[in-house]
Amino acid sequence: MRVLVVEDEHDIASVLLDYLRHAGFEAEHIADGRAALARLQADPPDLTLLDVMLPGLDGLSILRRLRPHDSHPVILVTARVEELDRLLGLELGADDYICKPFSPREVVARVRAVLRRSRPAADAAARPALVLGAQDWSASLLGQPLSLTRREFRLLQALARQSGRLFSRAQLLDLAYEDTQDVNERAVDSHIKNLRRKLAAAGPGREWIRSVYGVGFAFDPAPEPG
Ligand code: CA
Repeated sequence: MRVLVVEDEHDIASVLLDYLRHAGFEAEHIADGRAALARLQADPPDLTLLDVMLPGLDGLSILRRLRPHDSHPVILVTARVEELDRLLGLELGADDYICKPFSPREVVARVRAVLRRSRPAADAAARPALVLGAQDWSASLLGQPLSLTRREFRLLQALARQSGRLFSRAQLLDLAYEDTQDVNERAVDSHIKNLRRKLAAAGPGREWIRSVYGVGFAFDPAPEPG
């Protein structure tokens, strides 16, 4: 699998390349935005780690020019956690977001997770972990029935419909409530907390709903590699 690291900070790029190669990936590095766009248009890799702030052309402009013709997985890397919320709202079509400073180990795990999700053929062969019955509000995880409130059901349905995608609290409010007048984003946190407890009871030993601090939540059905 080929991973392209688009990053103008050479120290960071060099650490990432080391970790990715050690994990068995073919990793390449480009430091300039325009060169990266040219390369991505000519020969997209299996996954790109795309820094937002770049010389030449920034990561968001690169992603805008690539999508929607190109759907290869892209993980956006940002230096500011406050920026994540704005990025999510832009609906750029990134597959995941990583905030600096990061641990290279975590980056490799996220690269693996995104690559796994982007191979639908392999996923389809496996038994679906989560089954939702929209008619009767029934839900089961790994064959275990889940007893969910309607609110929890709708939140889980919204998350699972685009599993792996990170949703902000505001987006989840819109998706799970007909009328968002009387509810605030804290309500989402409390429903997610309950959902996590119920999911953990049915499928223990792993985190089904990933949270990004201060930003939002994603449903992650793919098991992490041991
Ligand atoms: Ca940068």
